This record gives sequence, structure tokens and C-alpha cells, in this order.
Amino acid sequence: MGTVPTYDAVHKRIRAERGPAAHHACAWCGRTADDWAYQHNGCASELLSPSGHPYSPDLSCYKPLCWEDHRTFDRLINQDSELSRLRLLVRSAESFLSVTDERAAFDRAVRERAKAAAAAYAASVAKPAHSAFIATLEPGATVYGSTLLAQYRRWCVVNDLKPVGQRTFYGWLVDNHGFERSARGGIAVFTVPAAAYSR
Ligand SMILES: [Zn+2]
Repeated sequence: MGTVPTYDAVHKRIRAERGPAAHHACAWCGRTADDWAYQHNGCASELLSPSGHPYSPDLSCYKPLCWEDHRTFDRLINQDSELSRLRLLVRSAESFLSVTDERAAFDRAVRERAKAAAAAYAASVAKPAHSAFIATLEPGATVYGSTLLAQYRRWCVVNDLKPVGQRTFYGWLVDNHGFERSARGGIAVFTVPAAAYSR
């Protein structure tokens, strides 16, 4: 068995896999959620954090809730009785009925904009793959290896990537990207392949 994931690690994983709670509707009322709430639903995998919060590495044991409903949920779930379970059902239904369709639709529209902005931001900060460098070259051009290497290193600086060494770089051009290697006066030159290779 691997190590037991911490409470923080689990919450990080929920956000990574299902997005922040604020990108979801509250499971009770339909307004925008604030938290990923552990459902205390007797998950076989239930753990206890050092500060005494139950949690589970099973991500299906969490629901998005707004802070108001989360507080109500936690208060009722901590009273372990049939009556509190009944109250839980009643309160979630009340919560749902207290929110108008207009309010739910408004929150949904705001969430969609937030999600689109987050996706655009993520795309803007994503690092390109090293192979994206190939697309910056002129197809069919024949270039000194040292010139290509210098261009590649500058491109890596701009894109915050760690460049590979010369030997690896030259091998990578030929083996992975179809460059033709030859020599001009004993100096390595490379011919950039046709566009089909420059993905
Ligand atoms: Zn709610």
C-alpha cells in the first residue's frame, strides 16, 4: 500500500480533477458553491486529519456546497441520529426552494464566465513542448547546427524551459523530427524537413 494522503493533498486533488468548488453549483441550493464538502457517508476509506476532520481519498465522497449549506450540513451531520438525517433532507429541500430559478441561472452564467477565463489563463501559462520549437523553423532551410542550437536555447529561455545538451539536441532533430544531417567544411549542418514533420 502507498502512503496515506493527507487532508490537504486530497483537497488539492479534488480541485485538480474536478476544478474549484466555485466552478460548480451547490448540490443543495443551486447557487455557486464555495467548498468541496465531505459527505460523511460512511466511505470505507474514511480517514481522520490530525485536527480531527474526517475525510476520504475517494473523490466521489465530496459534493460542492455553498458555505451556508455546508455549515448547516456539518452541524446536522455531527448529530448522529435518525432525526438529524431527516432534518438534513428537509434543510436541503428548503435550501433548494429558497433559491429562485433566476438566481440559479445568474450564478450559472457567472460560473461559465469564470471557467472560460480560468481555461484561457491556464492555456496562456502552459509551457509548450520542446517539439514546438521545430514549428518556428523555415521548412526546407539548411542551417548550421550551432545556429540551430543557439536559436533553440534562446527559445527555451523565452519559454522558461531547460534546454537539452548539444548532442541530445542534434540526435533529437534527426531521430524525432526527420532533419537531415550533413557536413559543410567539417561543420554539422541540418536541413529542416518539409512542414509535415514540423509538428
Ligand atoms: Zn447552497
